[in-house]
Amino acid sequence: MTDVIEFSKEVADIGGKPRRISILGATGSIGCSTIKLIEEKPSDFDVAFLTAYSNVEALAEQAIKLSAELAVIGDESKLGELEALLAGSNVEAAAGESALIDAASEPVDWTMSAIVGAAGLAPTLASIKSGNTVALANKESLVCAGDLVLDQVRKSGATLLPVDSEHNAIFQVFEGEQQSTVERIILTASGGPFHGKSRDFMEKVTPDQALAHPNWDMGAKISIDSATMMNKGLELIEAYFLFPVEKNQIDIIVHPQSIIHSMVEYRDGSVLAQMGAPDMRTPISYTLGWPHRHPFKADRLNLAEIGSLSFFDPDEDLFPALRLAREALQAGGSAPAILNAANEIAVEAFLKNRIGFLEIATIVDKVLQVADIRELSNLDEVIEVDQRARDNALELLSSV
Ligand code: NDP
Repeated sequence: MTDVIEFSKEVADIGGKPRRISILGATGSIGCSTIKLIEEKPSDFDVAFLTAYSNVEALAEQAIKLSAELAVIGDESKLGELEALLAGSNVEAAAGESALIDAASEPVDWTMSAIVGAAGLAPTLASIKSGNTVALANKESLVCAGDLVLDQVRKSGATLLPVDSEHNAIFQVFEGEQQSTVERIILTASGGPFHGKSRDFMEKVTPDQALAHPNWDMGAKISIDSATMMNKGLELIEAYFLFPVEKNQIDIIVHPQSIIHSMVEYRDGSVLAQMGAPDMRTPISYTLGWPHRHPFKADRLNLAEIGSLSFFDPDEDLFPALRLAREALQAGGSAPAILNAANEIAVEAFLKNRIGFLEIATIVDKVLQVADIRELSNLDEVIEVDQRARDNALELLSSV
C-alpha cells in the first residue's frame, strides 16, 4: 500500500513563466502525443531535452521544431548522425546511457517518462531523484522496482502523475481525503484484438494481427501486451504501487469499447468512473495541466451514438498472463521484475516470428517457476534480477 500519491491540489507556482519540460522516449507513441499537445501552445513550454534510442531522424526533427536545448540518443553509435542532423541549430547532441541519465537528472518543471520497458527504470529514477514532477507512462518502472521508485519519491519530494489511461482515470476519481472509504479499484480492459476468440484461433495469430488493437494506437510492445492481456497484469501491479489500496482491492473487468477508463467503488456502493474517447492525449493533457484542466479538443463522447457499453469477466484460462501477473504481485519482491523481463524477451521473440502467440505466457510462466524470488533493495539488484530472467527466457527460446 502506498502513501506517495498526494491528492492535494497545491499548484507548483512558477509565476506564469513557460514551464521547462523534458520527454524521455520522445519518438514513441506517447512521446509524439505529448509533443502534439505541446505544439498546441508552444509559448507555454521551454523544452530542456528530448530522448530516443535509435530513431535519430525523428529525434533531430522534433528537437529542432521545439527548439530543445538538448537531444539525447541512447544508441551511442548514432551520435555522429545526430550531430550532423542538428548542425546549424542551437540544439546540443549527446548519446549513450550515461548521457541519458545525466539529462534525466536535470531539474525541470515536468518530465514525461515514456521509454518502453525496463530500460525506462534508471532514467525515471534519476528524474525522480531530482525531485521532478514525473508524468509516468513507463509502467515497467513500477512493475520492476515499485518499492524503490516510491522510496525515492518520498526522499526527493518528487510528484508522480499517472499517465496510463486507467491509472489516470483512477487518479481523477479517487477521493484521496477519504481513502478509508474506498472499497476497490476496478481497472477496465479492452480485452485487446482477441477478446472472444478461441484458443485455436490464438494459436495461429500473426504479429500483424496481434498489433492491430481495436481502440488504441500504441507502440509495438504495449500492443502485444494488450493482446495477451499482460498489459492489464502489469497495470494491476502498477495500480497497487500508485494507490493506497491492498492487493486484494484491485479488480479487472473487460470493457471492449474503452469508454470507461477505470472506476473506484466506495463503501456506500457509489462507483465513480472516468469516461472519454480512447485518446492518450486526454490523460497526458491532464498530467500536463495538473492540478488544472487544460482545454483540449479531444473527440467528445457521443453516448447516444455508442448506444451501449458492455462488460465481461476476464478469462484467465485463455489469457494466463493475467493470472501470472496477479501471482507475481502476491509473491512480491523480485517476482514482478522477473515477470516483466521474461515478458519483454518473449514479446520480442513473438514479434520476430520465433515463437507463437500463446508461447509468450508459457515462457513467462516457466521463467517464474524456476526463479528464486527475493527482496530487492537497490537498482543494481533489480538490474541483476532482470538480466538473469532475460537470460533464462533466452535459454528457453533457444530450445523452442
Ligand atoms: P514506443 O515503442 O512507441 O516508444 C518507445 C520510446 O522509447 C521511443 O522513443 C524509443 O526510441 C525509446 N526507447 C526504446 N528503447 C529504449 C532504450 N533501450 N533506451 C532508451 N530509450 C528507448 O512505446 P509507447 O510510446 O507505446 O510506450 C511507452 C511507455 O508508455 C511504455 O512503458 C508503455 O507501456 C506506456 N504506455 C503507452 C501507451 C500508449 O498508448 N502507447 C498507453 C499507456 C502506457 P526509438 O524511437 O528511437 O526506438
